[in-house]
Amino acid sequence: MSSKHDADDAPHRPQPESAEDPAPKTALAVVAHPDDADFGAAGTLAGWVDEGWEVTLLVCTHGEQGGFDDEQHERMPEIRDREQRAASAELGITDVRFLQGYRDGWLQPTHELQKDIVRVIRQVRPSRMVIQSSERDYQRINASHPDHLACGEATIRAIYPAAENQFAFPELLREEGLERFSVPEFWVMGHATTNYAVDITDRFDRKVAALRAHESQTGHLGDELDAFLRKWGELVASRHALGHGRIGEAFLRVIR
Ligand SMILES: [Zn+2]
Repeated sequence: MSSKHDADDAPHRPQPESAEDPAPKTALAVVAHPDDADFGAAGTLAGWVDEGWEVTLLVCTHGEQGGFDDEQHERMPEIRDREQRAASAELGITDVRFLQGYRDGWLQPTHELQKDIVRVIRQVRPSRMVIQSSERDYQRINASHPDHLACGEATIRAIYPAAENQFAFPELLREEGLERFSVPEFWVMGHATTNYAVDITDRFDRKVAALRAHESQTGHLGDELDAFLRKWGELVASRHALGHGRIGEAFLRVIR
């Protein structure tokens, strides 16, 4: 595993041969529930895959409190696992991981959750991450589900300081050989303040297909799903001046 992107070493390193895009094209998205990454960032992640990025998706719960069908309820973890893999496949993402042992609706930014996220950060060593906001947006309360806030908080604590501190969760190094890693950049979904938007118009159909794959959550919407996603994406595009009729996804982009 390379540690050449460790921030502590960066000022002392010689310049890379190509200054254009020296970072490995590895990205990691961490979310609380199946479908969160697809609602917030499907078009963006599909674009990264198209550019040759290897994208890993980590989902912290199985979303078993979701859905509308009593009969499906017992099987919901397995249904949502399958739906997420199908949704990610629409975007070209094949590395989909679920954490075990975290209950939907009960997520907290515990040290246990932080450690589980640090483990995956150190395994994947992402040049970019997509994360959820740890701050509630009172104007978009559905985007600020308490599990999203908890996942966002655990993930930001995992990014800094835990993943890059060799003395945080030292057993990850001792027992699993996972060396510290500093994440250079992360994109926050669902934050009230966005500073960066991606034009996803050309990939909008894949975003819709991904969300349709979450059949247990979106099946009842029928054609309204497309219209809802389009309206939301056009609003984002308009706010970020992407152009008339364009569709966007917006983030708080943090480059460290
Ligand atoms: Zn969610």
